[in-house]
Amino acid sequence: MGLIVQKFGGTSVADAERIHKAAARAIAAKKNGNEVVVVVSAMGDTTDDLIDLAKQVCKFDGKEISPPKREMDQLLVTGEQVTIALMAMAIEAQGEHSISFTGGQIGLLTDEAFSKARIQSINKHRIFDQLRLGKVVIVAGFQGVTPEGDYTTLGRGGSNATLVALGAVLDADVCENYTDVDGIFTADPRIVKNARKIDRISYDEMLELSGLGASVLQTRAVEFAKKYNVPIHVRNSQNENEGTWIVVETSNMEQIVVSGAALKKDLTRVTIKQVPDYPGVAAKIFGDIASANIVVDDIIQNLMDDNTANISFTVEHGDLADLKTVVDRICKELGGKCIAIYHGDLAKVSVVGVGMRVHTGVAQRMFKALAEAKINIQNITTSEIKISCIISKDQGDKALQVVHDAFELHKAP
Ligand code: ASP
Ligand code: MG
Repeated sequence: MGLIVQKFGGTSVADAERIHKAAARAIAAKKNGNEVVVVVSAMGDTTDDLIDLAKQVCKFDGKEISPPKREMDQLLVTGEQVTIALMAMAIEAQGEHSISFTGGQIGLLTDEAFSKARIQSINKHRIFDQLRLGKVVIVAGFQGVTPEGDYTTLGRGGSNATLVALGAVLDADVCENYTDVDGIFTADPRIVKNARKIDRISYDEMLELSGLGASVLQTRAVEFAKKYNVPIHVRNSQNENEGTWIVVETSNMEQIVVSGAALKKDLTRVTIKQVPDYPGVAAKIFGDIASANIVVDDIIQNLMDDNTANISFTVEHGDLADLKTVVDRICKELGGKCIAIYHGDLAKVSVVGVGMRVHTGVAQRMFKALAEAKINIQNITTSEIKISCIISKDQGDKALQVVHDAFELHKAP
């Protein structure tokens, strides 16, 4: 007998019929002799619709505010609350016993970073008590509460974080991530038509890919899975096929040079010019930005002749408004001479594979493929298992395809 945590994303619970299908999956796992915990997302596009509604209400009298973050979370948690109750009812209707919990009801405590809170602890006893009573336990994804009892959310796609955190604290045998695709692909199949489903991928590769724009799994969820060594099985809720297993790296994984390619759109490069050059400046700049919960990437520093430096980095477009506020303040504090320049409409195309550790010529192959397609590379960054190139956004889709072709990712290894 095992313990399985299943998660159904928005499309897999989009209407009553799909909720019943998901309920049937949970019941089947239970009938196979497992204890089953089910995490659900908000139905269909509910979260997007709520965000839209918030934006409409935040416009008044020709002016517009950005929605207060606490109130936004207060609003968004309602989406998942609808699904948990309906899912528990569906399971009861199919003749099994079930109980649903909000994040607060299972003591899922987070910090106070509204809209991107981090999980601090979960009280597993309430869940275990209900499992021992023979019930299928349903938990609202994407939400938690602060120690004061305010609702928080875990970032878009955050139900995956809930899934893996529960997998870890309950010591689950597997986390099953049910979605509307067959698994993780060598590239986004909506862009690259001959992309192939990957059978097994290591945590580190998946971490790089999801950080680089492969949107199936949130980075934070994979980090958690790696730390607690919880295998994740990503699979389609509409069929019985095996999906993609995300697991600890095995020795034969290094034989594959590149496992996948990814594209991240909507990046902006920020260049801060005339930054005074003395110890502690970079620490201050990036410390302040991190305190505002903004993730930066692709940092480059160039020293100039006049004892100043140019520091550039990329951020996601969505963080730009917050970032500008922080950067303006930093520039003032650093003596007023520095200026920030913003260059939008960028994309990043990347290839990832643990095989890069042992194979040579990988970067050259990627650059050559881009060059032959007349795609100009603006910046290059690498890690042990990835190579990324910043390019113009309008060439993003093409870049992903040519890189995918260059490494013949459509062919099974
Ligand atoms: N409903 C939330 C979202 O759409 C969380 C999730 O689906 O994982 O981002
Ligand atoms: Mg959703």
